[in-house]
Amino acid sequence: MRQSQLFTKTRKEAPKDEVSKNAQLLIRAGYIHKEMAGVYSYLPLGLRVINNINTIIREEMNAIGGQEVFMSALQDPELWKTTDRWNDDVVDVWFKSKLKAGGEIGFAWTHEEMITRIVSQYLRSYKDLPLFTYHIQNKFRNEMRAKSGIMRTREFLMKDLYSFSRTEEEHEKFYNECAEAYMRIFNRLGIGDKTYKTFASGGAFTKFSHEFQTLADAGEDIVYVNEEKNIAVNEEVLEEADLSEFGVTRDELEKQKSIEVGNIFSLGTKFSEALGLNYVNEEGEEKPVIMGSYGIGPARSMGTVVELLSDEKGIVWPEEVAPFKIHLVEIGGDDEKVRAYADDLYKKLTTANTEVLYDDRDARAGEKFADSDLIGIPTRIVISKKTLESGMIERVNRKTGMVDMVSEKDLLS
Ligand code: ATP
Ligand code: MG
Repeated sequence: MRQSQLFTKTRKEAPKDEVSKNAQLLIRAGYIHKEMAGVYSYLPLGLRVINNINTIIREEMNAIGGQEVFMSALQDPELWKTTDRWNDDVVDVWFKSKLKAGGEIGFAWTHEEMITRIVSQYLRSYKDLPLFTYHIQNKFRNEMRAKSGIMRTREFLMKDLYSFSRTEEEHEKFYNECAEAYMRIFNRLGIGDKTYKTFASGGAFTKFSHEFQTLADAGEDIVYVNEEKNIAVNEEVLEEADLSEFGVTRDELEKQKSIEVGNIFSLGTKFSEALGLNYVNEEGEEKPVIMGSYGIGPARSMGTVVELLSDEKGIVWPEEVAPFKIHLVEIGGDDEKVRAYADDLYKKLTTANTEVLYDDRDARAGEKFADSDLIGIPTRIVISKKTLESGMIERVNRKTGMVDMVSEKDLLS
């Protein structure tokens, strides 16, 4: 993409009311637009990042057998009444609306009821199980406070996977596979080294559920961590549980702020019993299906990446998440030879299927470099009169600041 064509521009200042680092940087660099408190739109650069994150999540969910669906955001009140979750005293985050034709409708804040009813239309016998479905779709939640930029919004993307198993063992096997897939996702997002699978309270079915908590000053949550033993527990578990179960003592745990980037939860037969999701087992008996739910917030993860991987100049995207792989910056473009060479290199790189943002704008070098640092693409290639004369190309690593000179041939290969 030619930067001269990109309709967004960088900004010196973020909006005054924007307190979080992730939103400040993402707005200044032109990734997102703030509509109102807790609501953001994604602009060309931001959408590329979100799509890259979703691709990583999809690949890992498909690898453990997830089947992707796309469920509607509008919700049927009758369905939710069967589990008593239409009730505002039970669920306090609903956005609801009235239908012109009469009656009410809800905006999805989660999808357990919907997927359970869908699966019940197809499930017959034990031969149909286990099965795993997921989707990446907007959720709507009337959150009380929205102050963490794109990490807590009232409309947000969620990847939610639901598992359907015959036995506890079968459920547990998938539960653990999904936990491992989550760690692979967070590693690929570049936040794996700060992300812990933490023990959280489990509800009625299992003693514990698990959250994936990334240590960060901007976090709204608190976890107690032992980095050496690779163990973390959340606040409620610290109060309730016997820590010897985890092989740690209280004074070995350090209190830290963290961001919940994902969680996984055993649902038991709560939803299958409420909605009649049964299967016939090998003995011919009807049994309720054992379920689990597994969430990740792609946008919250994007915000977390920015919180963790940025410096005083701007964002430092990891390779797989970055909106482009290369930022080609041409300086001294009033020189026709420089411009022609950069244009040609841009063509060669894009025909080699490399994602390139080409700064072909008529602007000062200092401005271009500052913008490039703010936008945070991993590799910057500089073409100038000087590089042309030397016959080499200047390559700058955004993360380390290291500069080296490469030949065009080496760069392309
Ligand atoms: P929190 O305790 O932070 O409110 P939650 O327990 O309500 O999160 P879930 O309902 O399990 O979260 O949602 C699954 C994932 O969706 C979370 O782990 C998080 O990554 C993301 N998520 C939840 N709420 C929001 C939100 N308001 N804005 C952005 N992402 C969110
Ligand atoms: Mg919540």
